[in-house]
Amino acid sequence: MQDVFQYVETHRARFVEELCTLLRQPSISAQDVGVTECAARVLSLMSEAGAEARLIPTPGYPVVYGQVSAPGAGRTVLIYGHYDVQPPEPLELWESPPFEPSLRNGRIYARGAGDNKGQMFAHLKALEAILRTRGRLPVSLKLCFEGEEEISSPNLPAFVQKHRKLLAADVVYASDGPMHPSGPTVFFGCRGLLYLELTVAGAKRDLHSGNYGGVAPAPAGRLAQALASCWTSRGRVAVEGFYDRVKKPSPADRRVLGAIPLDGRTIRQDLGVSPVAGPGARAYYERLLMQPNLNIAGLTAGYQGPGSKTIIPHVARAKVDVRLVMDQDPDDIEEKIRAHLKRRGFGDIEVKRLGAVPPSRTPVDHPLGQAVVRAVTQAWGRRPVLFPNLGGTIPDYLFTRVLGLPSIWVPYAPHDEANHAPNESITLEGFMNGIRSTAAALFEIAAA
Ligand SMILES: [Zn+2]
Repeated sequence: MQDVFQYVETHRARFVEELCTLLRQPSISAQDVGVTECAARVLSLMSEAGAEARLIPTPGYPVVYGQVSAPGAGRTVLIYGHYDVQPPEPLELWESPPFEPSLRNGRIYARGAGDNKGQMFAHLKALEAILRTRGRLPVSLKLCFEGEEEISSPNLPAFVQKHRKLLAADVVYASDGPMHPSGPTVFFGCRGLLYLELTVAGAKRDLHSGNYGGVAPAPAGRLAQALASCWTSRGRVAVEGFYDRVKKPSPADRRVLGAIPLDGRTIRQDLGVSPVAGPGARAYYERLLMQPNLNIAGLTAGYQGPGSKTIIPHVARAKVDVRLVMDQDPDDIEEKIRAHLKRRGFGDIEVKRLGAVPPSRTPVDHPLGQAVVRAVTQAWGRRPVLFPNLGGTIPDYLFTRVLGLPSIWVPYAPHDEANHAPNESITLEGFMNGIRSTAAALFEIAAA
């Protein structure tokens, strides 16, 4: 890899300058600001890097798609990324304007620097570096960069379904999200999500609790009872069958979980409380990554202002998010929650689904995953931390379930990238080692 890595180092200043140019182009999907212009810019960057690139329309913003064929190569790698960014507000908290990239403290500060333009652009520069030094890629490459990730990828599921042939590959490689605080990171999937809203309705208006207390329905109390029935006194989810499909961590998962560094003191300082998971890194990460969780994300009823107001609120509402692990299915879990409420006498509670994404996993000991781990080790000069999956949720199931591919994620942004927040950044080290990681990954995947 020396020649390729040398090319990356030689062209460092230009790569940074080009990234800054891309970061100057706003692409705020939530506000319809500059996204189409940004797609056009990504298209030319993709072509300049050496791919046969085109825009593929969707009902929303286009996918920038590129292909580089390598005749005789045994494998095809599909790289996913996104070129849209979060809104930059609140503007007054930025130390430099969000769309005027600023280099300081060894970082590039700008909206999209970490999430995801810096990481996405690193793939293009890896492509350029290999083609300019070797003349051809060791694998065939497909690039799929969407413009709607920050608004929950509304058109990506249909796009992937429709273009299964076009996207056919041997493995998906993607870079998004932050690295673990200890350094380079590789993860193999994510927890899923089921988001529900529970509503209990009573009278058609709030009632005086002196005039009606004890004789009128009391939605807030009823909702509290229904929610409380969902857990045992020890904090386990009491919804019948909730854990039925939860897989035990494999021996490889256990090894990986036990090797993730856990800095309990920093977590306590950051949160102001101690985590509830039992002692040790393995218990902490097993609970966080490989166990499902039922959480009340919002709870609303009645009077919440200063002082007292004696009413029976006429409606009570809860937002509930369920983090799902393999092999749980959002439809099945929603059914079980409905059945549980009915069985406990809360069949009148209205349950509305606000969103669902299935969980997704690639085995941590997958040979192509191991190839990527070797590549990241070469790029950084040390072994990455491995995560069986994220605690959070990304649409990884589109790759693993719809396309049926192993999917390996290698974030290039620092743990404190401040994505979605003011003063977002990527470190120059992360950007440059990201380019080297992608380049090395293509060779390691070819050789595996
Ligand atoms: Zn984001």
